[in-house]
Amino acid sequence: MFTMNCPHNIYIHVPFCMSKCNYCAFYSFACSSPDWQKYTDDITSELCFWAEKLGRVSVPTIFLGGGTPSLMPVKTFAAILDCINTNFNVDTDCEITLESNPGTLNTDKLIGFQSAGMNRLSVGVQSLNDDELQFLGRKHSVSDAVKLLTSAQNMGLRVSADFIYGLPNQNVKSVSDLCDAVNKLGLKHVSMYELTIEKNTPLGKMNLQMPNNETMAQMYMTISDKLTLPKYEVSNYAVDTEHCKHNENIWNGEAYIGVGRGAAGRPFIDGVWYDTMGDFKRFEKISDDTRNIEKIITGMRTCKGVMLSDGIAKQINFDWIKNHDDLIIQSDNYLRATNSGMLMLDNIMLDLIK
Ligand code: SF4
Repeated sequence: MFTMNCPHNIYIHVPFCMSKCNYCAFYSFACSSPDWQKYTDDITSELCFWAEKLGRVSVPTIFLGGGTPSLMPVKTFAAILDCINTNFNVDTDCEITLESNPGTLNTDKLIGFQSAGMNRLSVGVQSLNDDELQFLGRKHSVSDAVKLLTSAQNMGLRVSADFIYGLPNQNVKSVSDLCDAVNKLGLKHVSMYELTIEKNTPLGKMNLQMPNNETMAQMYMTISDKLTLPKYEVSNYAVDTEHCKHNENIWNGEAYIGVGRGAAGRPFIDGVWYDTMGDFKRFEKISDDTRNIEKIITGMRTCKGVMLSDGIAKQINFDWIKNHDDLIIQSDNYLRATNSGMLMLDNIMLDLIK
């Protein structure tokens, strides 16, 4: 008997950027005028491949991440959405997010994206200080970023802004001031990421004096205290109705396809999980145990925590939890990290998972 596969979220990677930022180790490269027709053809043929494997599954969210998706012409975006609509059952309330960088789209282009179906804009603001933006190798100014946020808010889009903290010259007071300034922007969703220095990036070669671990921890706690938006994931803050549904679905362990080179996916085809390993032509089965471990790792990042289904509970070291209730709390059949636990999730995982 034919059974329909479950809903799949869709992530589409757009690897092009105006230039490479000084801290960036993502899969992206500087190319301000790529061959968009070739890119569209590649993406749509991958989408057709997945439609054949999965059938006409429903799609609760679509997320175009990068790279800098806002560099793409509106017609490229429209062609990709058209292909998704033709091959899948896109939910009527589907969340369609576009990641953007200030300076890469004006109001006309923003209106074009919105008319084509984009309903959520994520903006890489990163800092509200022009010297810091320059240090990070960003090509926009604070004023560019604020203008974009304001236009998007005025257009009724759902808007999120990304910020980076923990720069070499920052201290707890400057991070506290950043939070005050962010609060004034009237945003309903904010992501706050700690600056990590990766080898082989311009910052990685600069022998920088970074804030120590204790200061970083104080900065993290300051952000949690000072932002008026409530935290719902390690780095994400939003009013309840404005959570990023796409990321939340993935943290909750739902199925998704990753389209575009370098995009990971976890499709669930005829009852089996697969790892697409950044290349849709190479994908491997993964066991339910492995998938449950992944769900623990992503679920524990959320403030809601991970639900203790039988498959998840089987992987958990409950003896360890008994002696670490300052880091992990168990209640209502959920396991969640405390604020202190969130600071050291990677280390906790090594003990929490059997
Ligand atoms: S815009 Fe984002 S992806 Fe592009 S180089 Fe900068 S940090 Fe990397």
